[in-house]
Amino acid sequence: MEALAAYAEQVSVCTRCRLAQGRTQVVFGAGDPDADLMFVGEAPGFHEDKQGIPFVGQAGKLLDKLLAGIGLERSGVYIANVLKCRPPGNRDPQPDEIESCEPHLFRQIELIQPRVVATLGNFATKLLSGKPTGITRVHGQEQEVVLGGNRVLLYPLYHPAAALYTPAMLNILQEDFRRLPELMGRSGVPEHEPEPVLAMQPAVQLGLF
Ligand code: URA
Repeated sequence: MEALAAYAEQVSVCTRCRLAQGRTQVVFGAGDPDADLMFVGEAPGFHEDKQGIPFVGQAGKLLDKLLAGIGLERSGVYIANVLKCRPPGNRDPQPDEIESCEPHLFRQIELIQPRVVATLGNFATKLLSGKPTGITRVHGQEQEVVLGGNRVLLYPLYHPAAALYTPAMLNILQEDFRRLPELMGRSGVPEHEPEPVLAMQPAVQLGLF
């Protein structure tokens, strides 16, 4: 946790690419530094650049709803982007910007050690899978990869911004989201509080003696 904060401090003055000139601030990432699940989006937009927090605009509100749908909150996951600085006018990230910024993302993954990295959209998916195959073909299909020196499950998802105005895509995104608890090694969101386990009660009360 401290190492991640120290790294964020370091990145806050990054000048590795031209995007340093137009930014309000670096948007490093947010959430639980010990999270099992990490999301990687594309780049900060207008609101993210102003607030310094990823996914706080419309797409972020949808991400919050999708998380709530599987019993998670943003404070229980970690959210970052491929680019830490806003491209002017929200244009696509350029290859040299991705190349300059990628050590930051890989170091984040190394420090957080998530079990599952869910990539949101084409840029994150292509970068972290190391393959050119687009999101339409690979969404919802987990693959084991080594990232930041650790084995993780890479789980490509449509970008929430793409689903904002396309109901068919939103349905697919919701369906793909439903598999996240299982991929995180959980049996799913429990509908009831689990029964107390035997070991929590004195054996004698359980009639074992
Ligand atoms: N879209 C992204 O990819 N990242 C953000 O932080 C916000 C919108």
